[in-house]
Amino acid sequence: MQPDSLARPTWAEIDLDNLARNYLAVRKFAGDVACMAVVKANAYGHGAVECSRRLEAKGVDWFGVATVEEGIELRDASIERPILVLGGFWPGQIELALSKRLTPVVSTLEQAHAIDRIAEHRGEIATIHVKLDTGMGRLGFRYDDAFETARQIAQLDHVSVEGLMTHFAAADDMASGFTELQSARFNEAAAAFRSNGITPRYLDLANSPGAVAHPQTRADMIRLGGVLYGLGGDVLPKEVAKPALFPVMAVRSQIALIKEIKAGEPVGYSRIWTAERHSRVAAIPIGYYDGFRRGLSESADVLIRGERAPVVGRISMDWTTIDVTVIPDAAVGDVVTMIGSDGQDEIKAEDLAARLDTISYEVTCGISARVSRIYK
Ligand SMILES: *Cc1c(COP(=O)(O)O)cnc(C)c1O
Repeated sequence: MQPDSLARPTWAEIDLDNLARNYLAVRKFAGDVACMAVVKANAYGHGAVECSRRLEAKGVDWFGVATVEEGIELRDASIERPILVLGGFWPGQIELALSKRLTPVVSTLEQAHAIDRIAEHRGEIATIHVKLDTGMGRLGFRYDDAFETARQIAQLDHVSVEGLMTHFAAADDMASGFTELQSARFNEAAAAFRSNGITPRYLDLANSPGAVAHPQTRADMIRLGGVLYGLGGDVLPKEVAKPALFPVMAVRSQIALIKEIKAGEPVGYSRIWTAERHSRVAAIPIGYYDGFRRGLSESADVLIRGERAPVVGRISMDWTTIDVTVIPDAAVGDVVTMIGSDGQDEIKAEDLAARLDTISYEVTCGISARVSRIYK
């Protein structure tokens, strides 16, 4: 599968069947609980509209996005399911966001008041989800202010609290007990809301590692990001049972040209690599602007004809050089796999992440808009 011949041959294949498989597998694993597909950041680089369409067809209950802009993109693509804006609405966006049936996460009383005022003006009651900070230290009302927060929100006539949520800081860490502590704080805070007459339809806590590894946190809804895209390897705890997950993104290109490099000659910026023997070096039209990070210079391998070839020299903005001396048949036009499988071998986003001292999410999010997405 390749882009048409008019395009630069560097592309990301998005396997929507694997997306659907992962979704159904995690859903089955988690049991009877509503499921939000987190499709923020262009579905972790996989394409928010296409992924959301497939997941909506498979019956997902909610979508989660980071921004109002991302929510509008989905509405404009005729996504019908409720959309939660995890980062809330910016003051100037409230009117538009309500008109697009987006639901905000609210973390401050100022936000709640602003939404209340505009909802009153529109003659409606706005649905909100209230976020509680139980230990993440980022968004949300402090858990130990929950009673006063609930008392204040209960006085607003034009907002209705449909959800109460929190976010785990370390659900991949089984040993610390921090997820249990956050859950206990959340349950206490929920009781404080109830005693102020607020009984939300959804209590939700769990992200991917929460949903898989901490069954007691599944509550009314799980919010799944990484696992939908098959990115479990580095964010799920190693020691727990988990559903089978399949990668959704592959990144491929083609050999643009092959050059003979004599022993002792350098390749690329700063001459960090010098041929030890007479070598065949292939140039691939992918670089750090595409998201093939410079930190992978002299570190990553790619797959050609099912075999591994090392990146040599510096990855530059638009080009990468690889040593194909050990693949004598390698030829101009051969498909090159940066992420994905070829023959018996496979390179995962998690593998590149490990070399970059990051997580797979950053790798797939980083595949830039210059790389065309091709949907299977
Ligand atoms: C991103 C996000 C998620 C999804 O996290 P994953 O680890 O990818 O499952 C869930 N909840 C909130 C609030 C988020 O911001």
